[in-house]
Order: sequence, then structure tokens, then C-alpha cells
Amino acid sequence: LGGSISRALQRMNNAPTIDEKVLGELINEIARALLQADVDFKVVADMRSNIKKIVNLDDLAAGHNKRKIIQQAVFNELCKMLDAGKPSYTPKKGKPSSGKTTTCTKYAHYYQKKGWKPALVCADTFRAGAFDQLKQNATKAKIPFYGSYMESDPVKIALEGVERFKEENCDLIIVDTSGRHKQEAALFEEMRQVYEATKPDLVIFVMDSSIGQAAFNQAQAFKQSVSVGAVIVTKMDGHAKGGGALSAVAATKSPIIFIGTGEHMDEFEVFDVKPFVSRLLGMGDWSGFMDKIQDVVPMDQQPELLQKLSEGQFTLRIMYEQFQNLLKMGPIGQVFSMIPGFSSELMPKGHEKESQAKIKRYMTMMDSMTNEELDSTNPKIMTESRMMRIARGAGRPMIEVMDMLDEYKRLAKVWGKMKGLKIPKRGDMSAL
Ligand code: GDP
Ligand code: MG
Repeated sequence: LGGSISRALQRMNNAPTIDEKVLGELINEIARALLQADVDFKVVADMRSNIKKIVNLDDLAAGHNKRKIIQQAVFNELCKMLDAGKPSYTPKKGKPSSGKTTTCTKYAHYYQKKGWKPALVCADTFRAGAFDQLKQNATKAKIPFYGSYMESDPVKIALEGVERFKEENCDLIIVDTSGRHKQEAALFEEMRQVYEATKPDLVIFVMDSSIGQAAFNQAQAFKQSVSVGAVIVTKMDGHAKGGGALSAVAATKSPIIFIGTGEHMDEFEVFDVKPFVSRLLGMGDWSGFMDKIQDVVPMDQQPELLQKLSEGQFTLRIMYEQFQNLLKMGPIGQVFSMIPGFSSELMPKGHEKESQAKIKRYMTMMDSMTNEELDSTNPKIMTESRMMRIARGAGRPMIEVMDMLDEYKRLAKVWGKMKGLKIPKRGDMSAL
């Protein structure tokens, strides 16, 4: 999605003059990209008319930078689609909240770290194993939990759990509800009853980012049975299209408050509109990236890595080292897999095996390089005779050496974007 919107903006930037036709084409391309990314039709139609309203070419005097104004309008419009206009929610003490199993624990864990006293209630009596799952998660996070293997009435359990934890002075009671049922109508009815019984302060609609086109209708259906107040989008670590999130916000008129970025308890981030849209547009989310580096890279390896990044110089040796990390999928590999454009193309989901084989071939070729070649920052050093020597040494065809060097150039570009990156100190980190 980000890619095609960026390309559309790029085309507009390259147009000799900006007129109604160019603007119209841009809007059409963006609309198409959004629709392809499963954003709901109505949401796209609104975006379309809003941009047209904001960018009135006739009113723009000759001196104005039309390109910039249009770009800003597109950016703002995408931000607006994700920003339901309410401040993000901070739970009030005293009453329970609700959500879905993994997210429930992440949410509880997040607030527990901030000094809250959360508790989890499993009101999913439909799925066998639901209580066990919650129990395991909760135990791991050291969060009190309530549920039953015998009781089949979710309303009864929800109420019992909430009552118990109120008595125990828990200040954030999270009720996990069922997500599946024999019939959808029964599911919504059950949710309504649990809602009526427990009267939560906040109902969170937990949405899998890969839900696609169904997002709008599903979110709307939830909103119609219970008063949804916030959205959490999960599995943002995957390669899902971003459109569903925009639709969910539009359908529920509620803000996204957190995103889930992995299966682990800590893979949970406060949602921030601007970096999300930047990511959608392919601009990369460097601020979030910095936080991540500090979280997952061992302390002793941070200075060197950050130093290299901030210098913006990418050598074949750094590429070699990053390939090693990527293959290990160790902590640094995780970091690099998050740099937009770094590994998504190098190692697309579902093609890990082939990609790994390719990376290993590249590394074999790099093993035939001299130190001078590995440490050079000048791409011109790679003359044809050097390439031939490397190909011979590695026993691979010349074309593969050229492919490898193309990949190097692409990665060097991505890497170069981080040049001048401010290196924050540990203490500077936002509290999370
Ligand atoms: P529920 O049925 O809606 O309660 O969903 P669960 O919490 O049981 O999660 C279903 C699966 O999705 C589990 O395997 C989770 O580990 C996984 N999962 C949940 N959140 C995320 C996330 O943000 N990223 C990834 N990659 N997996 C997730
Ligand atoms: Mg569940």
C-alpha cells in the first residue's frame, strides 16, 4: 500500500505542471491503492472528496508549492483516517475492560509495568482450551486470573471474576470474551450480555491486521452490538496490508490505542498515528526503530551498531554481517528485518527457504572477496576483472555476482537513509 501511494506521489512530483488532471490521477491512484489494501469503499470515497476539498488548485496562487500542499493533504488525510479524534484512552481505575486472549495479557502486562494492579477474567466458555491459554499467559506474566473449566455461562463467569477482583482491589480488570460461536448472531448476543452485566469502562475491538476487506463490516457489526471505544490491531509484524486498520477506525469511530507486533507479551506498542502513516507511505518509522534497537540488541553491541548506522556508510562487510544476523534471526536480525525495505524484499514471507539459499550463495561469493573489497565504500572499486575473479573463486556464474552487488546497492540506499541518525542514550527512552 505504502509503495503504491509513494509511487503515485512520486509521479505527481515528476509531472511538469500540476493541474486538475494530474491531481485527479493522483487521487485515483491513491484510491485504487487503498481499495486494493482492503480499505472500505465508503472510507475511500470520503478521502477522495476531502483531498479535493482541501486542495483547491484555482485558489492556490502561483507562488504556492502545489506539490507540497498536495503531499501534505494526502499525509494528513491518511492520518485522519486513523485518528478518530478522541484522545487515546487511559483506563479509569475501578471498573473492568475487555479484549482478546493474547492482547488481554499484553494489555494487562503493559499497565502492570506502569504500576497498575490488573487482573484477567476468561469469559470465553465456547472454545475448549481458552481458559488454559489465558491461565498460562497470566501465570507467565504474574497476573491474577479467573475462569472455570466447568461453567458454560460466560456472563456468570465474567461477573464472578469482576466481583472477585474488585474485592481484591484490582484497578484494571480485563474480561476476555469469545471470538467464535456456532452462529455470529449468538456471539454478538453473548457479548451484549457480558457487556450489560459487567458494564465495562471500555470495550476494545481487537482486530487482526490481516483480516482485509472484512474489517469494515466486522468492526461495524461489533459497534452495533456493544459500544466499542477503542481498537487494537494485532499481527502488525506480519506482511498484512494496512487497510483494515483504517476501515476499523472508520467503522467504530474509535481510535487505535495499541498495536500487537508479535506473539510475545512485550511485543505491544502504543499506537502513534504519524509513524504508522509514514510506514504506510514507505517513509520508514525511524523513531520506533530506535526504540526497538535498544530493546532487542544486547547492550554491548549497541554502540558499534548505532555508530555504523549513523555514519550511513554501508560496506560489503556490513552486509555480510547483517546476512549472518538475518540467517540466525538473532536479535539484530530482528532489528534489520524491521527496517522498511531491508529484508522484506530480501526475505519475503513464505519464501524464507529460497531467500536463505540465496543469501548463503551471496555469502559464499563474499568469502572470495579481499578485505579491500569488503571494506570499501566506493562501489566503483568493483571492476569487471574483480567480479570475474570473485565468480571464479566462488564457483558461481558472473551474473550472480552482479545480482549480489545490485542487492548491495539497494541495501546501501536503505542504510544511507539512516545517516545522521541521532543516537539517543538509554535514559532518553520513552517510558514503556
Ligand atoms: P483469540 O482467539 O482472538 O483469543 O486469539 P489468541 O490470542 O489466541 O491468538 C491467536 C494466535 O495469534 C496465537 O498464536 C498468538 O500467539 C498469535 N498472536 C496474537 N497477537 C499477535 C501479534 O501481534 N503478532 C503475531 N505474530 N502473532 C500474534
Ligand atoms: Mg481467545
